[in-house]
Amino acid sequence: MKPFPRAEISCKALKHNLARLRQIAPSSKIMAVVKANGYGHGLLNVAQCIEDADGFGVARLEEAIALRDGGVTAKLILLEGCFRPVDLITLVMNDIETVVHNETQLEMLEQASLSKPVNVWLKLDTGMHRLGFTPEQFEQIYARLQACPQVVKPIKLMSHFACADEPDNPYTQEQLNKFNKLVRNLPGDTTLANSAGTLYWPDSHKDWVRPGIALYGVSPVTGDLGKNHGLQPAMELISQLIAVREHKAGEPVGYGCYWRAKADTKLGIVAIGYGDGYPRNAPEGTPVWVNGRLVPIVGRVSMDMLTVDLGSDSSDSIGDEAILWGSALPVEVVAEHIGTIAYELVTKLTPRVAVYME
Ligand code: PLP
Repeated sequence: MKPFPRAEISCKALKHNLARLRQIAPSSKIMAVVKANGYGHGLLNVAQCIEDADGFGVARLEEAIALRDGGVTAKLILLEGCFRPVDLITLVMNDIETVVHNETQLEMLEQASLSKPVNVWLKLDTGMHRLGFTPEQFEQIYARLQACPQVVKPIKLMSHFACADEPDNPYTQEQLNKFNKLVRNLPGDTTLANSAGTLYWPDSHKDWVRPGIALYGVSPVTGDLGKNHGLQPAMELISQLIAVREHKAGEPVGYGCYWRAKADTKLGIVAIGYGDGYPRNAPEGTPVWVNGRLVPIVGRVSMDMLTVDLGSDSSDSIGDEAILWGSALPVEVVAEHIGTIAYELVTKLTPRVAVYME
């Protein structure tokens, strides 16, 4: 018997989403972003399932090494870059490409003595103002990289969008214009588009798109759903009822006793809580899928369990499944109820949730 709670990951959905993203960005290669444990879906499992992606983007060196150790031979790109000279050797030994976004990294490359040159993506700050070189610095930095024997030529170029998840925000076009102006006539591959860029800004597709959340079947845009783009949710977060109780009108449930039943009802106690990564601040009314319908959370989410109002005519039983999000209940909808984004929900699951690749 499978344990509860568990996250069931559909390899079929991941493959479908990769194929769908290829249709959406037909002229681009796909750098599948699998950082943060494959957005909570399992780093290695995800990469093995969609092994035909053109490359994988990770944030940290440890993530890249875990992929190589797991037998992934595809292109790997380190999106945060390295910060210690010794890490450059690890990059070379494991054939990992890296983003360079600050002068410390550039100096490290200039001073390194490596057995072969490193594949580099030069990061431009076109408006996110988090990482990357400004347009004013660009020419000089590019020339230094160009002169650096430790760097594979041609140098690849990238930037990252700040507001592409707001389809009406003109800032994205401004970032795109800046990027186009800087990289015009340069020979290296280019990339800008995250999921929102891929889904909503076709002019940003360039040589590579870098979808993360869309790969998992989820839309990056508030009020939107992955299925509106032909994507399928890859994760079902499943637990079960561990108690079903008659509950009298006026009686409270849970810590703080702040919710009281308006009428006699039946409550279901679901084995999942903030110790599993389900947010403690999920408000009353946040939906859970039980036996083919949505039922609301009532009372406070505790460490190991939460409570749902099953209704007085419930015929639910102990052991019945409760789905916290998945195909019947999109994670985007749950995130909106909770006042967060789907990214946070899927990446915050704790190791207590068993992750299964189906
Ligand atoms: N590219 C970079 C540099 C990122 O940091 C991320 C994630 O934050 C992505 C691509 C993927 O973003 P998304 O999950 O919105 O597609």
